Amino acid sequence: MATVVLYMEDRRGQEPDPCYLRAFDAIVTEQGPDFVVLDRTAFYAEGGGQPYDTGILSWGGGEARVLRVTKEKGVIRHHVDRLPPVGPVHGAVDWDRRYAHMRYHTSQHLMSGLVWKIYGARTVGNQLYTDHARVDFQPANFTPEDLARIEGECNRAIEAAHDIRIFQEDRLVVDSKIGDRSLLDLIPASIRRLRVIQVGTADYCPCGGTHLRNTSEIGRVRIAEKRSKGKETDRIAYELVPTGSERPT
Ligand SMILES: [Zn+2]
Repeated sequence: MATVVLYMEDRRGQEPDPCYLRAFDAIVTEQGPDFVVLDRTAFYAEGGGQPYDTGILSWGGGEARVLRVTKEKGVIRHHVDRLPPVGPVHGAVDWDRRYAHMRYHTSQHLMSGLVWKIYGARTVGNQLYTDHARVDFQPANFTPEDLARIEGECNRAIEAAHDIRIFQEDRLVVDSKIGDRSLLDLIPASIRRLRVIQVGTADYCPCGGTHLRNTSEIGRVRIAEKRSKGKETDRIAYELVPTGSERPT
């Protein structure tokens, strides 16, 4: 049976917001040599440029560290340092790490949306970490002035405190809205409903990641460098600098 992914549930009217779920109860349904499968999880499995979550699984009399979470052929594996028995467990996500990934992921969508609007450059790759991120744009050959503009536009959108909406939308609708901006053909044709992340008016993009509720939680974008990654492709590396105005979590 497939694992219910708790952060993918509809965020409207949910308290806490599913992306902010740090702890949950679940059942171990399957044991591997160094991993378990759960009936439900709040742990993020590596994918889409967002790293996996870490944390703890505990049960009556025992505790294991979740070292890595992967998804293989649709099965979410929680790799652990000791095996919990089949049965009930309590899961706790390492929140500092996860929340940093959320801040970087939402800021990446914001930057990708703005760069598309201003320069017509697509995002062709991205990788997030807890303390920096990089995004590859194509076609692009940004000047220092362009980078200053991108940084400024991102920070204006953050200061405007845009809400982030997450909803399901028909694939054809998504396709008609984003056209040749996205590599939608990489998503299997059998998937007809897509999970869309909308960052204010700045970005609209299908994604399976975990995201903030409001851009004000991002902090301040500081572009560290730009590097050419070959033909018409530029890689922007940036950091998020706390401003103190982020909402408490
Ligand atoms: Zn994403």
